[in-house]
Amino acid sequence: MCTKKLKSMENTPYYFYDLDVLDATLEAIKSNIMGESFYVHYAIKANNNMEILKRIAKNNFGADCVSGWEIETAIEAGFDPQSIVFAGVGKTDEEIIIALTHKIGMINCESLEEIHVINQLATQLNVCPKIALRLNPNVNALTHEKISTGLAENKFGLTVLEFKALLNDLSELNSIDITGLHFHIGSQITTMDVFANLCERILEIIPEFEQKIGPLTSLNVGGGLGIDYDQPDLNAIPDFQGYFNTFKKGLTSLVNIPVHFELGRSIVAQCGSLRTKVLYVKRSENKNFAVMDAGMTELMRPALYGSVHKIEKLNADPVDVAQFYDVVGPICESSDCFGKDIRLPELHRGDIVTIRSCGAYAESMSLRYNGREAIGNNLKPKVSTSLRMLKYA
Ligand SMILES: *Cc1c(COP(=O)(O)O)cnc(C)c1O
Repeated sequence: MCTKKLKSMENTPYYFYDLDVLDATLEAIKSNIMGESFYVHYAIKANNNMEILKRIAKNNFGADCVSGWEIETAIEAGFDPQSIVFAGVGKTDEEIIIALTHKIGMINCESLEEIHVINQLATQLNVCPKIALRLNPNVNALTHEKISTGLAENKFGLTVLEFKALLNDLSELNSIDITGLHFHIGSQITTMDVFANLCERILEIIPEFEQKIGPLTSLNVGGGLGIDYDQPDLNAIPDFQGYFNTFKKGLTSLVNIPVHFELGRSIVAQCGSLRTKVLYVKRSENKNFAVMDAGMTELMRPALYGSVHKIEKLNADPVDVAQFYDVVGPICESSDCFGKDIRLPELHRGDIVTIRSCGAYAESMSLRYNGREAIGNNLKPKVSTSLRMLKYA
């Protein structure tokens, strides 16, 4: 039998990171916050590759964590524990203990019950952590519904009812210091008016906080700045100027309160891409399929949110004639498709295709489904499995 050898010897799929783009992005952020009391915490969940974390930590950014594992990993990468903020609707007791023992900067609380648990654990450990209340400002992020978090219908943040109940419990909460407010309304936000609306809501909420709880010493406005998935080369660096100016303008009446930001996607998305090889080209009467060696296991966003990433053929030959392809992965799911009817220079078995803007929410979302080997950094949280006996009736 004759088998066609793969043209490229490249060991695909792999994540490719352009550290010059990352450095330029970090510089752009730093130059736009210079002279302000603005602090940027990198949202580790966007990409937890150790090399990338170390680089961001070296540039004196803080970290935004959503699990105990992320807190420990951030510290390992060199982030100052005082610069770590910790959010999440479902923090376990173990994770809270990790946060307390490392004396991180702030715990962003999302329910009344959670606040009581933190208070109790802090009493036992004889510490007094700083707490921010994550409030749901009911601001529409004008983004994909699956990545919108600031509407009353979303699970995130304290509800109005819980905030009221908290006020009655304040006298019992002696081991925590409630000094901050936290908001995060969604991701991939490209309309600056959304952030202007958030500022307006924040200015309405602060007097209520100060009147009922005490002086506010820290304001965290979350992250969510979007990037240009259509034109990653033209807009490799997101519009940080427009973004930070919106907050400078929207929060001018706030004096002497440091403002914290939690940016994930906008810091890392454009520095990364996923490189994958064409395994097979399959033709039907009205369609061509390019079957790749990467799938939703390496980049889940198209399957999860229907997101669109730019797809390019690497080292295309000028004589290649353009054709249309459904670019699909090898996983046994119909949603394992990177794009439909994508115009690309003619593809052959062995060609390398690059999927752009994969620095955020690609490697960190990778799965082992279909028995896939973990690629990239292999920084996987430890998962323990408990097996139960099945009983048959
Ligand atoms: C995911 C997340 C972020 C980062 O969002 P981006 O859209 O990647 O900037 C910030 N804060 C919290 C609480 C998050 O959950």
